[in-house]
Amino acid sequence: MEDLSVRLATVDDAIAGAARAAGRDPSELTRIVVTKFHPAALVRELYALGVRDVGENRQQEFSTKADEVADLDGLRWHFIGQIQTNKARAVRAAGTVVHSLDRTRLADALHAAAEPGDSVLDVLLQVNLTDDPGRGGIAPADLESLAAHAHALASLRVRGVMAVAPLEEPAADAFERLQGYSETVRSVVVDAVWISAGMTADYVEAIACGATHLRIGSAITGPRPERG
Ligand SMILES: *Cc1c(COP(=O)(O)O)cnc(C)c1O
Repeated sequence: MEDLSVRLATVDDAIAGAARAAGRDPSELTRIVVTKFHPAALVRELYALGVRDVGENRQQEFSTKADEVADLDGLRWHFIGQIQTNKARAVRAAGTVVHSLDRTRLADALHAAAEPGDSVLDVLLQVNLTDDPGRGGIAPADLESLAAHAHALASLRVRGVMAVAPLEEPAADAFERLQGYSETVRSVVVDAVWISAGMTADYVEAIACGATHLRIGSAITGPRPERG
């Protein structure tokens, strides 16, 4: 726990430094701690250290873990992984924000999964920054129509864009394109200003390119246990 608190403080200092270097106010940034492959006990430790935003990328693990710590008041779960359409209800039930909306069918499924009394679900449109259609995210050419489609669904609120930097190029170049895609989405949904970008390896570049939501795992949690 002591190591965890040191790593958390170190990353938060680095985030604040990168924000100031980019002429930005660190308080504009939301730091999400990605807890995938770690036990729910780690979420409790993070919570005790003041963390309120946590992220997961696999539905099963996400639902189980969210259940295990359902008593933690004010904890916000961010879902950042690929979603199968038939898992839309489970994701919607456990999550506060979905970062990985990447197709109209999934938007429809998340909307259809809303139950009476559910609050509006915040969603980010995941953009594929590579030329490989096998990677997660929608092709930039289809982004505008996805934004319009999701915007028309009353139980979803489009908040912005999300992306993972490709390995094949400098992260800063990819994140610069993402800023342009953010503008594309804002041409449809004016207040969709969130940009979810930046992981352990590239959050400094992401902050320089306007990221508002950072998804940081191993720099804070330490190395991930072997995936089961
Ligand atoms: C695992 C994961 C992260 C965090 O990765 P680290 O390199 O450990 O910081 C961020 N975003 C997504 C989509 C992930 O799957």
